[in-house]
Amino acid sequence: MAKWERTLGEELQQLKREGRYRPLTVWASGSSTRMELDGRSVLQMSSNNYLGLTDHPELIQAAIEATRQYGVGSGSVRTITGTLAIHEQLELELARFKGTEAALVFQSGFTTNQGVLASILGPDDVVISDELNHASIIDGIRLTKAHRKIYAHKDMGQLETALKESAAYGKRIVVTDGVFSMDGDIAPLPAIVELAERYDAFVYVDDAHASGVLGKNGKGTTDHFGLHGRVHIQVGTLSKAVGVVGGYVACDQILKDYLIHKARPFLFSTSQTPAVAASCLAAIRVLEQSGELIGKLWDNAAYFRSQVQALGFDTGASETPIVPVIVGNPAETMRFSDLLLQEGVFAQGIVYPTVAMDKGRVRFIVTARHTREELDYAVQALGKCRAALSQD
Ligand SMILES: *Cc1c(COP(=O)(O)O)cnc(C)c1O
Repeated sequence: MAKWERTLGEELQQLKREGRYRPLTVWASGSSTRMELDGRSVLQMSSNNYLGLTDHPELIQAAIEATRQYGVGSGSVRTITGTLAIHEQLELELARFKGTEAALVFQSGFTTNQGVLASILGPDDVVISDELNHASIIDGIRLTKAHRKIYAHKDMGQLETALKESAAYGKRIVVTDGVFSMDGDIAPLPAIVELAERYDAFVYVDDAHASGVLGKNGKGTTDHFGLHGRVHIQVGTLSKAVGVVGGYVACDQILKDYLIHKARPFLFSTSQTPAVAASCLAAIRVLEQSGELIGKLWDNAAYFRSQVQALGFDTGASETPIVPVIVGNPAETMRFSDLLLQEGVFAQGIVYPTVAMDKGRVRFIVTARHTREELDYAVQALGKCRAALSQD
């Protein structure tokens, strides 16, 4: 083994000692509420497939038809020969869905944040970011020379201080997740918008966990709070509730035109495959009629959270279908997750450094497809595993 590989190996050993080494879990079936793992059917409570759209017949049909019509690959980046009619149609309908002038689609939510933040932030600008924002926002900011200010999670006092201190900069941009993925809480967007307006700043919201979940028909946090026209940049993902893969920014036409010329993942990475673009488009059409499905999602989330709380578990700040069960230290958290799997329930353990050392949690994500029986089973398994854990 070469020396440089030995040092990698040592780091991996360190992860193993800390109980943070995780081999990949390989599933024998596609995303669903029940999935096959090692020959066993497991209740899935960790996927972002909030509405069960990953195997929706209309999405599958759209993917097959687009593949027949256009082939499996787009053949190029968007700016050369990789903008097919299906890409343009998706952007038109996404903008209409979001109620914005325009929308621009990227290969993923991750590259959307990288592409947008890196394009719009210059060395004279300042970006003001919630401390719990997603890794792709952090990386997007790192790609720029802009000044950075971080405010404590949802702390509007600190945000105001940061805005006050930012008067001398060129652009001021406040960036926040719409729904925070580790805690399942919602950003205080009305307060953020008011402060931004008072201090002449732009608002940028990343709605990855809100796309297809929050707002009418899943239009996102801006719609949920009735803030249309006051949030300048809305990023969303097509990879979670929308059920496929991809990301987008919903914005004014001028920003879209600018990004087409500046955003590096857009310029230098091949566009979505025809099947992906077509199934995203079909998903947006399904969302337009998704009132009942989204109602079911929120009913299931409220039911599960109340049942878990009734057992005395701490669900933290959860107010969405993301329901963390706070366990404590990393080793105990991972053990809890392992015990749940023995009971046939998959819920991901999330530990330091993703969350604070004493805030390790098993994160449940409730979907519209879960039945009451399945949710009851998971709650009962939680109780059983807590009893087993206390006997360790
Ligand atoms: C998941 C997530 C992303 C990345 O989206 P992908 O489409 O999976 O790349 C970006 N931002 C937030 C807040 C997310 O939760």
